[in-house]
Amino acid sequence: YPKVEIREGLVSVIVPDLSKYIVGNRPEPAHAPVFYNPRMEVNRSLSTAIINGYIGYMNKAGITICEPLSGTGVRAVRYAREVNGVSRVIANDISERAYELIRLNVDKNGLNDVVSVYRDDANNLLLRLAREGGCDVVDIDPFGSPQPFIENSLRAVRDQGLLCVTATDVGVLSGKYPIKCVRRYGALPQKFPFRFEVGIRILISMIARYALSMDYGIQPLVSFLDGHYYRVCVLILKDRAYALETLRNLGYAYYRLSTLQRGFIPGYPIPTNTRYRLAGPLWIGNLWDAEFLMNHFMSNVKDYFSDRAREISKLIVEEALGPNIPYALTTEISRDLGRELPINDVIGVIRGLGYQAVRSHFHIKGFRTNADLLRVREVIIGK
Ligand code: SAM
Repeated sequence: YPKVEIREGLVSVIVPDLSKYIVGNRPEPAHAPVFYNPRMEVNRSLSTAIINGYIGYMNKAGITICEPLSGTGVRAVRYAREVNGVSRVIANDISERAYELIRLNVDKNGLNDVVSVYRDDANNLLLRLAREGGCDVVDIDPFGSPQPFIENSLRAVRDQGLLCVTATDVGVLSGKYPIKCVRRYGALPQKFPFRFEVGIRILISMIARYALSMDYGIQPLVSFLDGHYYRVCVLILKDRAYALETLRNLGYAYYRLSTLQRGFIPGYPIPTNTRYRLAGPLWIGNLWDAEFLMNHFMSNVKDYFSDRAREISKLIVEEALGPNIPYALTTEISRDLGRELPINDVIGVIRGLGYQAVRSHFHIKGFRTNADLLRVREVIIGK
């Protein structure tokens, strides 16, 4: 099949020539013989920064990273080259063509002594790695839902290891197909104004519930949405005390249209006697570790990353400093106003009232605040 050489991050790799796989008027990565999506550069670049940050945060050296669904191997090769203090990367794909391409790309970059390449089913590989002592980082980057791989990833990742997960079924998680979400993730989404946050919190809760059943706890370091996919990176803490703490971070999100109130209700079994519409069960704890982002992540966001990758980094660092209350949309406030409200004006007004307000990366019109939104609306309308 036709191939081209591309540069991404600090490596050059061979990938399928996407100009030969056009659907409509756009290249369709899923139609190529081996999957390569150039837009996922953002995911891969930020992941190298997250893993580099994790190494600093946990004071680690000589870590092992496992990527059981490698496609072309671009991610594994980037980890081998761009993560400082990596001693071994395990790349794997079930497809023969992918396996051959990964080997080619590892060889081309002179990384044969760092990257081990396998052709196995991801779950088999993860179970084998778990038996052999596990890995510090497991990165699950599948088509669609990561659910089939979570349980064995939790086995393969070591205590205080990092589990990174991509989910491309954003529509399912954010309320487009609620019954499918209930089936796949065991949680009810809602089309709240902050439905993209509900989605990522449902994704984290699914990981948390698998962890809890194994007596493990989780702690999110970084979470983000970038167009068609969610990405979450969580610490895995193999200790029953952390499992109990994790359980306390499960609950429900509520929203009330008449008052524009929103927030979280703790408690895993469904709360009764509430007047609100609920989404969940979902993760109600922090989506980010602000200290990690400021002191360990940001310094690893490199100039050579794409503009989009650097923009998301800045947005989430700011957002992590905001309150842990679901984001609101400027359109909720401007509803009866007959005109759009620029996001920076709304944030300015709220800060002027003495409350917290930060932009949200989840939505171009999104912001997080601890102010009463009806009050904010009155102030803005009165202006
Ligand atoms: N991680 C890659 C990257 O960053 O470019 C993209 C991976 S692609 C989205 C998913 C890959 O998983 C495909 O290459 C597919 O062949 C592989 N795959 C699907 N099911 C698998 C399984 N059960 N075990 C191993 N690989 C599998």
